[in-house]
Amino acid sequence: MSAEPQMRHVSSEPRLREWLRRASLVDLVRVDGHSQDFSGSRAEYIYMRVRLIALVFAALAPLWIPIDFFVLPEGAFIPVLLLRLGFSLGLLALGLWATRPHSIDRARIRLLLLLLVPCCFYVGSRLILGGALPDEGIIAGYAFLPYVLVALLAIFPLTLVEGVGYFLLVGLFVIGPEIQAGSLTSLATLGHLWLLGLIAVIAVWAQLAQLHMLLRLYREATRDALTGLVNRRSLFKWMELEVTRARTQGRPLAVLLFDLDLFKRINDTYGHLTGDAVLRTFGEILRTELKGHDLVGRYGGEEFLAILPGLDLEQAKAAAERVRGACHNIAMEATDGRRFHFTTSTGVAQLRGGESPELLLSRVDAGLYHAKESGRDLVAMAVE
Ligand code: GH3
Ligand code: MG
Ligand code: MG
Repeated sequence: MSAEPQMRHVSSEPRLREWLRRASLVDLVRVDGHSQDFSGSRAEYIYMRVRLIALVFAALAPLWIPIDFFVLPEGAFIPVLLLRLGFSLGLLALGLWATRPHSIDRARIRLLLLLLVPCCFYVGSRLILGGALPDEGIIAGYAFLPYVLVALLAIFPLTLVEGVGYFLLVGLFVIGPEIQAGSLTSLATLGHLWLLGLIAVIAVWAQLAQLHMLLRLYREATRDALTGLVNRRSLFKWMELEVTRARTQGRPLAVLLFDLDLFKRINDTYGHLTGDAVLRTFGEILRTELKGHDLVGRYGGEEFLAILPGLDLEQAKAAAERVRGACHNIAMEATDGRRFHFTTSTGVAQLRGGESPELLLSRVDAGLYHAKESGRDLVAMAVE
């Protein structure tokens, strides 16, 4: 317990730190600053696109077989046919792989596979067709595959680190056969690599622009404008997801429902602007005290919900007590200079086997009701 309560002044200005964080370019470079909920949505986005592209490519690849039959050199048709069928089947499997990845790491693996299958096809066709890059007629089309892959990467919202990593991978598959053919330093190869590099730069730009737009839109659609916490709609989405995940992984899941005490009186006494400042301050307290758990959001007017995967009842109670204690340490200053404190009542509940998200929410709500009934400024479980 600190002796001196921290002072909070009421201000209607958007917090500078929050604004800087929103405009931050770091989020475009790497994923460390991405919240768990944003990463989950980005994973879903990548997954959907990988599936769609894999299915389209799997369907298009066999259409080229009749053309191969007429244009490929003698002896090359059958090996290329087998390679093409392998390519098509590989992508078909990737397209039909319907289990949602949930984590960004798994989505990245899907994207890696989407690149690896065509890269293997490229290297295989180069080995079969032999020599340096073919530059005549339709066979030259085989040499264009890396360009297609690099351009394709432009449709994914990737960070700079991810984008560069995938481009380097494609680059390795292009350079490999050239080294093997002894043509790495030929003018034609260098020209190809230069062009590939140029397209890669444009594609990285497109990836970053997409990621930037996605981050902005996502924040606006999923965040509560006043506190910057997750909004009610996202909370419900994540509640469903976390309940399923806790059940399949067999780990605990706890939820906390906070309700500021006698908040209407704060509004009536000090004005709505001061009430808003209390809500923002409470949001900051939640962020600080529940660090590492970013599934914390504004459930309603002065009600907040925290979804705590991996925490059992006792650990969740301890977290709620930390938040309750932190409120005691903050002194608010109203627009007219008057000072006051605010408190919170908290319901706590742990997911039971087979319980639905709705039932869990109704139990944590009953816990909150019990805390209010017992005198407020308390943490309580539902009375069975
Ligand atoms: P209890 O301890 O029983 O929870 O009492 P209470 O006064 O907190 O509960 P009540 O539900 O009566 O009042 C909640 C108030 O919260 C009413 C509403 O005007 C206020 N409120 C809801 N959203 C906002 C907001 O965004 N800003 C401000 N300033 N007030 C809000
Ligand atoms: Mg309320
Ligand atoms: Mg209240």
